[in-house]
Amino acid sequence: MISEFDLIAKYFARPVSKADLGAGDDCALLRQTTGLQTAISTDMLVSGTHFFPDTDPEELGHKSLAVNLSDLAAMGAAPVAFTLAVAIPTSNEAWIAPFAKGILALADKHQCELIGGDTTRGPLNICITVFGQIPTGQAIRRDAAKVGDDIWVSGTLGDARLALAHMRKELILPENQFLQVLPRMQKPTPRVELGIALRNIAHAALDLSDGLLGDLTHILDASHAGASLNTDAIPISNILQQQDQVWRLQCTLGGGDDYELCFTAPPEKREQVLDAARQAGVPVTCIGKIEQQPGIRLSNAAGPLEHTGISSFDHFASLKK
Ligand code: ADP
Ligand code: MG
Repeated sequence: MISEFDLIAKYFARPVSKADLGAGDDCALLRQTTGLQTAISTDMLVSGTHFFPDTDPEELGHKSLAVNLSDLAAMGAAPVAFTLAVAIPTSNEAWIAPFAKGILALADKHQCELIGGDTTRGPLNICITVFGQIPTGQAIRRDAAKVGDDIWVSGTLGDARLALAHMRKELILPENQFLQVLPRMQKPTPRVELGIALRNIAHAALDLSDGLLGDLTHILDASHAGASLNTDAIPISNILQQQDQVWRLQCTLGGGDDYELCFTAPPEKREQVLDAARQAGVPVTCIGKIEQQPGIRLSNAAGPLEHTGISSFDHFASLKK
């Protein structure tokens, strides 16, 4: 068994360039830059609650950082650094090595430097704090949606929930389809470039981790507004397209773990939104409007959604992993 200090030295002590001091002392030292604010976010992943205990360690490493980078993306912040606190049951290098590989590969991709953390024995638990930078005043907050804004989402929604449905045997997917949607749950892609490109274009934004209805409600509550959504417009994969309407709605409206961005922008900035998406290399789709009347009104080509026989969406909104 490797000792705690050897473990840190071997896997987690890394050279830094964006920070003035990284791991190895009592604190790391972050550099301040005039005109920039520091965006900070923490996410904890607990074994058995946020992931299955036998999850592939490399994918778990990726996901642990990805969900944190996704929060930076949702504010339009550029990643700078992160700290990593882990409780691990045993210092088993066969688990730690791929875990570190998964985390550090994504960190390198976004030039987000590991600057410190804590390592302890205990039930598997991973807690990351990320630090990002953003020009002062340009953060895309939840409380700035305006009546008349378009509501947009990136990528496609619902595949992570569809993969979970298969794993829980709520439905059965053909093996090849399951293998295509599984990475949406296990290896989410934080939309960092899109968030940055949306600075000064989007009014409000957040990342989708708990399902569109519940997450959009956070923007609406903070902005004192309501919304109408066209459920036909919600972008979904070819695989989810093959499911019946109830599952399509359940996965897109109530399904978590997609880590796409949901944002609002004024209609006159539509071309700028589409340019930002092209620049970031991820598609975006307009799915609705911010309105004065509180609440979320759903409709499709056939009319308001209650007319389709699906009346309550509290059910979908409250469906969690
Ligand atoms: P202290 O007792 O002063 O809090 P520790 O013994 O916990 O310090 O950690 C020693 C050094 O190793 C610190 O600089 C800390 O930031 C770093 N460190 C510990 N665990 C990790 C980790 N999982 N990832 C990165 N750095 C770590
Ligand atoms: Mg100390």
